[in-house]
Amino acid sequence: MSFFDNLKDIYRKVSEVENAVYNGKQDYLEIYERNLQLEKEIEERTRELNIANKRMLTLQHIWDMMNASRPLQSVLETIVNNIQGELGYLHCNIIKKCEDEKGIYLTVLAQSNDPSIKRVDKLIKTPIQARKLIYSGDSVYAKAAREKKIMLTPDIGGTLKSVAPDVSDDIIDEIVDGSPSKAIITVPLYARNIHYGWFNVFSSRRELTTGETEFLTIFAQQIEMAITIAGLFEEVKAQAVTDGLTGLYNRRYFEEYLKKEVTRALRQQQPFSIIGLDLDHLKQINDKYGHAYGDLAIKTVAEVLKKNARSIDTAARMGGEEFNVILPGVDSKGAMIAAERIRKALEEQPLDTIGHITASIGVATFLEHSDNIEDILELTDQAMYQSKRNGRNQVTLAKPITETSWQEIAVNTFMDILSKHNIPLDKVLTEEIKEKLQNPKNEIPKDALYSVADILTQTYNPLHHTGVMKSKVLLAVSLAKRFDLPKDDIDKLRIAMLLYDIGNLMLPVELLQKTSPLTEEERNHIKEHPLIAAREILQPISYIQDIIPIIEHHHENWDGTGYPAKISGDAIPVTSQIILIVDAYFALTEPRTYRAELTPKQAIEIIKQDAGKKWNSALVQEFISLIDHDI
Ligand code: GH3
Ligand code: MG
Repeated sequence: MSFFDNLKDIYRKVSEVENAVYNGKQDYLEIYERNLQLEKEIEERTRELNIANKRMLTLQHIWDMMNASRPLQSVLETIVNNIQGELGYLHCNIIKKCEDEKGIYLTVLAQSNDPSIKRVDKLIKTPIQARKLIYSGDSVYAKAAREKKIMLTPDIGGTLKSVAPDVSDDIIDEIVDGSPSKAIITVPLYARNIHYGWFNVFSSRRELTTGETEFLTIFAQQIEMAITIAGLFEEVKAQAVTDGLTGLYNRRYFEEYLKKEVTRALRQQQPFSIIGLDLDHLKQINDKYGHAYGDLAIKTVAEVLKKNARSIDTAARMGGEEFNVILPGVDSKGAMIAAERIRKALEEQPLDTIGHITASIGVATFLEHSDNIEDILELTDQAMYQSKRNGRNQVTLAKPITETSWQEIAVNTFMDILSKHNIPLDKVLTEEIKEKLQNPKNEIPKDALYSVADILTQTYNPLHHTGVMKSKVLLAVSLAKRFDLPKDDIDKLRIAMLLYDIGNLMLPVELLQKTSPLTEEERNHIKEHPLIAAREILQPISYIQDIIPIIEHHHENWDGTGYPAKISGDAIPVTSQIILIVDAYFALTEPRTYRAELTPKQAIEIIKQDAGKKWNSALVQEFISLIDHDI
């Protein structure tokens, strides 16, 4: 082959390659364009689908709300949280127009839970949702409502200022400057043709496209539907006299009927009885088998009540798992028989999957136990709780009203704390303690109370000595007597003394037994946590509510440097001050993992140093003279 032939061949090959590359490029371009188009199509489809999905979801939520009677606010919160993040919306809220005697104002009914609102709330101190906002006629809201159309304003600062004029310009500037939001889009909302409020989104763009307007309108319609349905639902519910799940009368009807029954009973001087029933261990049924079976248990109680009540008896579901029956003309003897019949029928009724359920019942009789209906309801409740304490699945008749002794209250409190199983306590130990507190002869086991408090203290403080609790209570009472506290307060103090450290049961063991010095965080945990825990443990126990503040303030110092409320002087309950000083004295004279015990004299020296600071000087004086007497 000549040189030229070679060259030609090379040219041909090069052009072949070039052609191939060109064709490939063509192919590639075609594919690229086709892909672009496809992508666009997919994007459009997805958007349509998304909108359809959103509508579906929103409708689903509304449907759920109707079924579960979810409060409107939670439905609206779900909606705004769903839309936040869509189309670059950084924050969404629903504002309601309200009116009171002072005029029109605005409140945020629901808002998306996102970083931008958290930032704003932090800057303006009182969160937006907690505020009564101002309604100004020049605002974008007023304009949108007047013109009944969707509106966009880039003036975020001005809009914020119009609803919250107290926020300073500097803060408003800081909010606006640090936010990626470029505009507020507001859609006026109407429910049953009446202006209700606005649906607002904070957009990252300054313009509003047609598609976006449609998108937001669809959402606004869903919100309006939710509001309308909730309104209708509320109206229907307010008129209803029966409970949806069981078909029994509801609380509203029960209360109305009860009033009439009281009038009738007083006029005819004839008693009537109330049976109060609470399902046993419903929480466990829910946890073990699911909520539907919990509902089945509730429905079963209703069926048993219907079957076992006379036609003139009125059975009502008071809420949750609590039922009441009114038995007109029936005295306590008759009511006990009826209650026992109900208890037995329930126990014997077989249930799908669950097997059997039981209930605890209390009975009280109007004109027999009291002629005050509030007392009767309270007594029914107390009797029902007595049934729970005594082991559930039983009927208890109310006790006539007498002064309950402090020991009785303390025993009941311990029993309630232990039966709720909210504290992490060994099962065997729990049973042992319960046994100590129970007494077949229904006498109050006085010393058992102190030893139970000792045992509980030992679970979080192994160095605690048995017998200390009794000394502590007695010392506190002696001190209280020197201040002439009334008997009622002294009794409260006795109970508070037994319970003030109960929150320690919730502290992690590692922390309590740590021998090395504690970190700042650990110290704060030990400081604050027991108070929080004590409040949580004691809050559900209705009859000791007036003890809780005494416990809550037992770490306040006379000069206001204590915690949690930092109150000072006479604002601190005397009983709390007494606990603080007695507790400090015993802590100092007991050994700790990090130091040896001090002698009473040494302890008193330390306490003296803080007279007028930690404690009232008069209290210190009385305390010292009491202790001196002993040593
Ligand atoms: P106790 O024997 O002490 O009464 O225990 P309990 O678990 O029945 O009582 P507690 O008061 O601890 O819990 C009541 C539970 O009842 C909590 C709540 O979730 C549940 N509950 C209340 N209403 C309903 C309801 O309508 N359906 C269902 N499934 N559960 C409900
Ligand atoms: Mg219950």
